[in-house]
Amino acid sequence: MRMYDVIKKKRDGGILSEEEISFFVSGYTKGEIPNYQASAMCMAIYLKGMTTDETVALTYAIRDSGDKLDFSSINGIRADKHSTGGVGDKTSLVVAPIVASLGLKVAKMSGRGLGHTGGTIDKLESIPGFRTDLTEKEFTECVNNVGVAIVGQNKNLAPADKKLYALRDVTATVDSIPLIVSSIMGKKLTADDDIIVLDVKTGSGAFAKTEEDATFLAKSMVDIGKRAGKKTVALITDMDSPLGRNIGNALEVEEAIEALKGGGEEDFTMLCKELAVNMLILAEKGTRNECLEFVDNAIKSGIALRKFEEMVSAQGGDLSRLNENKDKYFTKELKAHKSGYVVCENASSYGTASLILGAGRNTLDEKIDYRAGIVLKKKTGDYVNKGDTIAVFYSMSMKKIESAKKVFEEATRIDENKPKMRNLILKRIE
Ligand code: URA
Repeated sequence: MRMYDVIKKKRDGGILSEEEISFFVSGYTKGEIPNYQASAMCMAIYLKGMTTDETVALTYAIRDSGDKLDFSSINGIRADKHSTGGVGDKTSLVVAPIVASLGLKVAKMSGRGLGHTGGTIDKLESIPGFRTDLTEKEFTECVNNVGVAIVGQNKNLAPADKKLYALRDVTATVDSIPLIVSSIMGKKLTADDDIIVLDVKTGSGAFAKTEEDATFLAKSMVDIGKRAGKKTVALITDMDSPLGRNIGNALEVEEAIEALKGGGEEDFTMLCKELAVNMLILAEKGTRNECLEFVDNAIKSGIALRKFEEMVSAQGGDLSRLNENKDKYFTKELKAHKSGYVVCENASSYGTASLILGAGRNTLDEKIDYRAGIVLKKKTGDYVNKGDTIAVFYSMSMKKIESAKKVFEEATRIDENKPKMRNLILKRIE
C-alpha cells in the first residue's frame, strides 16, 4: 500500500477501508509516513469528510496506536469528562475535583491548546512544578490516593492522536467532525472508564459552528462511547461567547480556583455544576436534585477546592507561585468608544487574540507564555458607558498587545439594543 494512493483516494471523495485507515495511522505513528503526507491526508479528510464506518475505524486505529491504561487497580467508579474545545473553557479544572470530592475516580487524559482554543494541560502547566507526565504507576496511585489526576498524552497513550493533534493545530485542519470525534474518543477509549460526559461546544468560538453540526458530533461520540460499553452522555453548550471572564492559562487557573471557592462567574459555575451533576447521575449517586445538592455542598464546604489543591500538590505543583513574574507583564485596557451593550461577534477571535498575546502556539514547538491572556471586564449583554473598560490584555510584549487588541476590537461591537442571548446549555444527548 502507498500513502500517496490513500491520500488520492480520499482527496477524490472515496471511502477508505479499515486497512487503509490503519495503514495511515500506524505508519504516521511509527514515523514511516512524514508530516507532509499526514497533513495532506488531514486536509483531504477535512474537505471530503468521512462516513460513520470510516470515523469508527479512525477512532479505533488511534485508540490502538499505543498502550491502553490498565485501571483495574483503581477502586471505585471511574468517570471522565471531555470538551470539544472552546475559549475560556476551564471546566475540567473545576468539575474533576468536584466529582472526585464526592467519591468518583477521575483519571483524566487531556490535551494542549488547539487552534484558537486553550487546553487543560497547558493551563495546569502554568502552575510552577505541575507534572502532567506522570508514569502510569504514579497516575494510578494519584487517582487512588487523591481521587483525581490529570495527565497529558505523554508516553505511549494514543500516540497517533498526540502527533495528529499537534499537526492539525498548525495546518488549519482542526474543525473537522471525523477528526474531532476520532481524536477525542480515540484518547478516551484508551482509558478504562465507566462513565464519559462530553461537553460539545457550538457557536462562533467552537469547532462546530452550528447546533446541527454539534448535534451530529455529539451523537457520533455518544454512539462510539456506547459501542465501547461506556455510559456516555453529551451536553451541547453555547460557545458564542467565552466561558467566564479569563482567557489564558494562568488566568484561567485563577478563575477556576475562584469558582471552587464559590465566587465564580454565573455562566461558568452553572456549566461546571451541570457537567458534574451529569457525571454523578451516570454513576447512580442519586436523582438530579440530590446530585445538584451534593455538588453545591462540595463547593460550599470547601471539599472540592481542597481536592483541587491536593491534586496539584500530588502532581508536584506549587500554587503559591502561580502569580510569579506577574509584575513583569505589560497590560493594556480596551475602553468603550461609546455607550451601549457589548456584543462579542466572534468568540474564536478572542481565542486568537489570546494566542497572539502568547497563550497559544503558532508552530509545533512554540513555547507558551503562561501568564499571557485577556480578562473580560464586560461580556455580551453587559451595558457599558463610554470610557468603561471592556477588557484587559496581558503580555510580555507591547507589540503583541497591540495586534491582539486589534483582533479583539474587530470582533467586538457596541449596540444600542440588548442582544438576544441563547441558553448556555442547549441539549442533552444520551
Ligand atoms: N479536543 C480533542 O481532544 N481533540 C479535538 O480534535 C478537539 C478537541
